[in-house]
Amino acid sequence: MYPSRFRYEAPRSIDEAIALLQEGGGEAKVLAGGQSLIPLLKLRFAAPELLVDINNIPGLDYHRVDPDGTMRIGALCRHADLERSSILGTRSPTMAAAAPLIADPIVRNRGTLVGSLCHADPQGDWASVVTALGGSVIAQGPNGSRAIAMADFVTGPFENTLEPDEIAVEAVIPPAQGTRAGGYLKLERRVGDFATVGVAVALETSGGTVRRAGIALTGVGGSTIAAAAAAGALAGKALTAETIEQAADLAAQAANPRTDHRGSAEYKRHMVRTFVVRLLSRDLEPAERAA
Ligand SMILES: Cc1cc2nc3c(=O)[nH]c(=O)nc-3n(C[C@H](O)[C@H](O)[C@H](O)COP(=O)(O)OP(=O)(O)OC[C@H]3O[C@@H](n4cnc5c(N)ncnc54)[C@H](O)[C@@H]3O)c2cc1C
Repeated sequence: MYPSRFRYEAPRSIDEAIALLQEGGGEAKVLAGGQSLIPLLKLRFAAPELLVDINNIPGLDYHRVDPDGTMRIGALCRHADLERSSILGTRSPTMAAAAPLIADPIVRNRGTLVGSLCHADPQGDWASVVTALGGSVIAQGPNGSRAIAMADFVTGPFENTLEPDEIAVEAVIPPAQGTRAGGYLKLERRVGDFATVGVAVALETSGGTVRRAGIALTGVGGSTIAAAAAAGALAGKALTAETIEQAADLAAQAANPRTDHRGSAEYKRHMVRTFVVRLLSRDLEPAERAA
């Protein structure tokens, strides 16, 4: 199907893009990688009057770590940039694990992390990763910019808290309190598919103690789920077989899956538990693991 008619603009600055969104008065949409928006237009699930293509705005394609350890991912940083990144491996193992699991190489070449957060698909992998890492989105509008914690950014399936005249200019991951550990595991029916179940775990440890933990779930609810009680069961404690089992049980309880063509609710909940145990057990001392 062809999309409905729309006006297309490709501004060269953020201010110009914001002015266009204001002009659009709620009938305008930002176009980033287009990997979610273009299919929606073609299916006529979305019919904006104005598309504001941000791809010609210079200086948004970065991902970097500031001297204080804050990581910043610009609105035009593609999934593939993160997949090939030399800074994620040690700085953010959770992001490094997720990047190659997003869709397929064609989608990864164009799609953006920030676009994925804005799209707020319950099966979007980055929303879980950024939630587990305690990240936020920086929104810029006519009255300046504001930070929105990822946990507050997504308000429901395919809904976020951005105002119609705001652009998400970057995602921000705060500095770690200690050493970062964790990962992302995704159950998919075939390579390149959306998640049947995804689990993001982000730990910050020092002296054998978990200083901060984040656990978030993909594809097992109406939107990304922050498994706060599960993460809370780890904070301030050492990783032991017991604390891991407890966190895994609480994460499975936080999941709210539905039975569908990808599997039964019971199976998906079981996979959440299995993935949490698997991810956390990687960071156990060998002696603990054998116990
Ligand atoms: C075949 C296929 C398989 C896929 N598989 C996966 C998968 O396994 N896992 C996964 O997580 N995703 C998957 N995706 C989605 C993909 O990751 C998209 O790239 C991503 O969801 C959206 O990023 P985008 O840059 O392409 O955004 P776009 O498609 O350009 O935009 C998506 C939405 O976000 C808004 N938006 C985008 N950027 C901004 C911004 N800076 N400020 C304000 N609003 C903005 C747009 O207005 C639109 O509403 C898949 C897509 C396809 C086509």
